[in-house]
Amino acid sequence: MSVSGECFCGAVRYKVDGELRDARSCHCSRCRKAFSAQASAYAEVNADEFEWLAGEELLTTYQSGRGFGLQFCSKCGSTLCGIYQGSVHGITLGCADGNPGVEIERHIYVGSKAAWEVIPDGVTAFYGQGDDDEKN
Ligand SMILES: [Zn+2]
Ligand SMILES: [Zn+2]
Repeated sequence: MSVSGECFCGAVRYKVDGELRDARSCHCSRCRKAFSAQASAYAEVNADEFEWLAGEELLTTYQSGRGFGLQFCSKCGSTLCGIYQGSVHGITLGCADGNPGVEIERHIYVGSKAAWEVIPDGVTAFYGQGDDDEKN
């Protein structure tokens, strides 16, 4: 399995030679800001299977705390990946090309979703981080 992705302007491109893991969408207030959306859409990768193909020098890193950060294109603003302690931790599914081979498995922190968001019926949703608090 190989997954590719790029930012909105196309200057930054990457590929993942491997499977994505743990695709999820977090509806907490921090993820809404970080992803400029109703929720995150994110999947983890193995750092050694991830490679920047173009535009790595255009990346800007925002450290959000506890070793985690986000990297985004400084030209167009797309958030491309999450990093943990300096290594790529996962990708934002919005910048993945085509079908990256995963579906969102769980929607977490729907208990703190935006007032204006309607969670669709039938999705696997949790009020919190998803240990034992399934909503549906
Ligand atoms: Zn860009
Ligand atoms: Zn979150």
